[in-house]
Amino acid sequence: MLSDIIGVPFALAKGLATTLKHFFMKPMTVQYPERPSIPTVWRGRHVLTRHRNGLEKCVGCSLCAAVCPSRAIYVEAGMNTDEHRVSPGERYASVYEINWIRCVWCGFCVEACPTEALMMTMDYELADYNRQDLVVRKEDLLEKEPDSWKREGGLRSWTPKERLGIGR
Ligand code: SF4
Ligand code: SF4
Repeated sequence: MLSDIIGVPFALAKGLATTLKHFFMKPMTVQYPERPSIPTVWRGRHVLTRHRNGLEKCVGCSLCAAVCPSRAIYVEAGMNTDEHRVSPGERYASVYEINWIRCVWCGFCVEACPTEALMMTMDYELADYNRQDLVVRKEDLLEKEPDSWKREGGLRSWTPKERLGIGR
């Protein structure tokens, strides 16, 4: 009983002292849209890239879909012709979708891609108002012109080779 009488005000004072200490400390939180420092190996928004001549790097091989542990990627391949050439290979992705609700941002798809067509960026602002808009289609993923995704919004890429420090 006596220990309660002494202990309660002591615990209260200790708690208030902790609150007071944090009151004068620099806040740890960052106010949106201020950007926190992002780790250089951050795996954010996917992007489908182009060759310097504008052709798409994706050849519709579906390796990214095969390796995805969440089955978040859907690819349909089309055949290139001389009249309608989309990629340098025999085939291209006529349909390419990633379901960001399913995605666990593991980066396996990027590592599996044989042409370095699929990359991940530093962009983490992916929230949306409905589920349908989080199934992103090729039109949304494909960069407008070669390397444009690197310039837009201060995005930064990484590739498995970059991560190992041996360049692209
Ligand atoms: S990051 Fe991982 S979970 Fe997301 S699409 Fe790629 S392989 Fe699938
Ligand atoms: S993104 Fe890469 S792995 Fe996926 S279908 Fe295109 S070329 Fe193949």
